[in-house]
Parts: sequence; C-alpha cells; structure tokens
Amino acid sequence: MQKRGNFKQYLEPIKPVKNYINWNFDNSYSKLPEAFKEIIKPVSVLNPELVILNENLAKELGLDFSKIEKNELSALFAGNILPEGTSSIAQAYAGHQFGHFTMLGDGRAVLIGEHVTNQKKRYDIQFKGSGRTSFSRGGDGRAALGPMLREYIISEAIHSLNIPTTRSLAVTKTGEKVVRENLLEGAILTRVASSHIRVGTFQYIAAKQNIDELKMLVDYTVDRHYPEIKSSATKAVDLLNLVIEKQCQLIVNWMRVGFIHGVMNTDNMAISGETIDYGPCAFMDHYDPKTVFSSIDKFGRYAFSNQPPIAKWNLARFAECLIPLIDKNEDQAIKTATQIIDNFQTIYEQKWLDMMKSKLGLIGDNKDDLKLINSLLNWMEESKADYTNTFCYLMDMPIKDEIYNDKRFIEWVQAWNNRSNLNNSNKEDQFQLMKKVNPVIIPRNHKVEEALSDANKNNYETLYKLLSVIQNPYNPKVDVLEYQSPAPESKEKYQTFCGT
Ligand code: AMP
Ligand code: MG
Repeated sequence: MQKRGNFKQYLEPIKPVKNYINWNFDNSYSKLPEAFKEIIKPVSVLNPELVILNENLAKELGLDFSKIEKNELSALFAGNILPEGTSSIAQAYAGHQFGHFTMLGDGRAVLIGEHVTNQKKRYDIQFKGSGRTSFSRGGDGRAALGPMLREYIISEAIHSLNIPTTRSLAVTKTGEKVVRENLLEGAILTRVASSHIRVGTFQYIAAKQNIDELKMLVDYTVDRHYPEIKSSATKAVDLLNLVIEKQCQLIVNWMRVGFIHGVMNTDNMAISGETIDYGPCAFMDHYDPKTVFSSIDKFGRYAFSNQPPIAKWNLARFAECLIPLIDKNEDQAIKTATQIIDNFQTIYEQKWLDMMKSKLGLIGDNKDDLKLINSLLNWMEESKADYTNTFCYLMDMPIKDEIYNDKRFIEWVQAWNNRSNLNNSNKEDQFQLMKKVNPVIIPRNHKVEEALSDANKNNYETLYKLLSVIQNPYNPKVDVLEYQSPAPESKEKYQTFCGT
C-alpha cells in the first residue's frame, strides 16, 4: 500500500483481493461515451480505519470478507487499494437544486464498478467521500464521519422498513481531518445501489443536446431497470410512465413511515425508484405535514407534505428531457408528456389511499374512508400526536400517553371500529394487516444523534445497538421501549444539516 503523496496521487489495484472476496465486476456504465463520466480513481487517504462493515448486505451480495485482515479491509473500503476488475469513474449529472438548474456530477464520489451477483443482479459499488474529481467545483471531495454514519443508519432503516433504497456496505475513517465549520474526522461510505442514474443524469445529457447520447441513456436505463419495455416502439413514453409509477410508490412509502428526505433535488431522485442521497433527512415524530428538519430548507420546499408535489415537479423535469424522443413533432411530444405527468396526481392519490387504509387495517371500500383517514390526521396534527406511536396504539400496543384519552380521539376510534366491522373480519386479522405496514421502531432523531455523538468519541456501541434495533422495525425481538419514545420536549427545534 502506498501513502498519499505528491509523487503519486493514485494507486494501482492490488490483484489478489478478488479471490478471497468473490467480487465479480462487470462495468457497463464506464463503457458509455466520454460525456457521461470522468475516468478517475479514488484519492488515497493517510490512515484508513474501518468503522463498520455490513455483514448482512455482504452476504446478500455474495461477498465474503472474513478472510481479510482489518488493515486490508480498511485500505479496501477507503479506496487505497482497488479490487481486480474495477474501472472507476465519477459520473456526470446535472440537477435542479431548490429549483435552480446546475451542472453537477460526482464531486465527492467515485463509482468503482458494478458487482454482479450469482443471481445476476447488478449493483453499483460507490465510494462517497473519496476525494476531488473534475466535478468538485469548490469542494474538497471529502465527507465527514457523522454524515456518512447517518447515511448508513437511515439507509439501513429504510431498507428494513421494506422501502427501496441504496444500501451502505461500510464506513471507513480516513485518518484525515475535513474542514467544515469545525475540523471533523474524514470518512468514506461504501454505497451500493441498483444504479446511480438520476433524473439529473438525463438533465445533463439532454442539456448537451446530443440526441444519440440521449437515446443511448434511455436504452441503457431500460436495459438495466426496465427490460420489459426493451422492444417497445414507444420506449421514452413507457419509461416515463414506469418511472412515475415507481416514484409514486416510493413517496407513498415515505409518507407511510413519516420519512422526510430533506433535499429532493432532481439530482437526488433515482430512476430506479430507490431512495438516494441521505443528507439532512429525518423521521417525523409528532404529526405535522409542514415538518422540515433541514437547516437550509428555509421555505419548506421539501416539507413532509410537499414531497408528492415535488416528486411530480421533478418528474416533469425528467419528462422534459425525453421530449425529443417522445415524438418527432415537438408540440405533440409536449402534449403527450403533459398528459402523462398530469396522471401523477391520480396514481399517487390512489396509492396513498390504499396505503392509509392498510395502516388502519381497512379491508374493502367505503365511500367515507378518506374522510375517516383525514379526520384522524387532523386530530393528530392538532393534538401533536406522535405519528408512529398513534398507529401502534391502534394496534393495541402498550403506548402510554394521556393524549389518547382525548374525547375526540375516543370518538374517532369508535367510528373506525364501526367502519372496521363492515369488513366482517376479526380484530386479529385486522392487526395482522396493520402490523405489516406500521413500524414500531423508526430511527428516532435523538437516538441517531446519540449514536453519532458517541461514534465521534470513538465509542461505537451505541451505533451498533441502534442498528440492531432498527433491523426489526415491525416485529422487535427485544425490549425496545427506549427506542419507541419521541425525543423529550426541547426548546430547540430539531435541525439537520447537509452532509457536505
Ligand atoms: P449532495 O448535496 O450530496 O446531493 O451533493 C450535491 C452536489 O455537490 C454533488 O454534485 C456533489 O458531488 C457535490 N458535493 C457535495 N459535497 C461536496 C464536497 N465536499 N466536495 C465536492 N463536491 C461536493
Ligand atoms: Mg446528491
């Protein structure tokens, strides 16, 4: 292994690693034309130290790290040595950030390659925080330990909640400081994704106005994520419809568990329908549709209840990129794209209603269901009831809170019971349905902060404990009372910060 120095910035891959680990790299994205990427290796770091390795994910990927010494593992997950078969690149993309269009790209990440499992599933392996690239602009290309561990925790929580997401395979400290408001410990996250193709990737290629490359990106995306429309004569239209469907499903899932992404810029929306780019994200405690945690989201653009309209807005930007491929006649193409985007509302509302009905264990249809759901949400908002725990209470879990003695709530429960009886199902069946979609455990903000604060002091036990608890959000195997309560009331509003 070589140390970082002026004489040689990049390290050559060390060959034998693959044999022990079972990496199987096959890199398709790096074969796309120059416009799509920069060929670049991670910048090596001074003193890498592995903090956490996701053994469960490793197993799912068919990877075996058990025969590798910690030193070598640390070097591997810091990008100081690269496995055989990698072909690392920084991906080009653009994005609307808080509504403003900018050319971006991986400014602090490299995609080392695509690992293909024995089941022929293809995954991007990306190092986040791996040094400067030509897309870094003024940034240092690095990341701090806190934000990388936050991404690890929340992405694993989202995965355990059965919501599509990028995953986190490892976090390694770099042994170098990063300069933010304070000096912080540097770290690299190994991110695993079904791809990193974003709405912003399409925006970047579309902005270059090279129709052949745009077609190439559509073909590539379809081959990788939507092979069912491979031979379609209306590929661009079909792709748009499928991505809308996937995104509606994703946002409905976020609304189900009270997740607030925090930076739904178009560069942070994946075409695969996975949750991506965990920055100032957090889970809502008491129900308030206007909840915003991100310190930079001054006007609440990405507030909890704004997530569906913002998703629609982002998808409209995606549709604009596809216009030249939708119809040769531009007016017709715009008309078609507009009609498709206008479907968002209907698709979303139906999915949301089905989801809320499942949260309440309501089988079949009743004309007053929407009214029943909204009256619960209104009560929760007005009485500041905890979103997660209210559904736990309805599932007869021992939630102690005087709020549930409120007359209005008791009356609502009566109405809910009356509606439930129309199903002719017993309570047990109803609870079975509810238990699949109502988490008992979410990563509570104060618990996440506690784990990150201890990790910054080199104590990782709190983090490991939290990770073990969030793995079973629907059916906790141990006593998790401590993890169920919202943060104690505080004068300060909880705020999250971008991981830059
Ligand atoms: P994000 O907020 O992580 O979605 O990043 C938005 C854009 O800023 C992306 O192009 C990133 O690559 C870039 N970026 C974020 N942090 C840094 C950094 N420390 N150095 C260079 N580029 C960065
Ligand atoms: Mg991003």
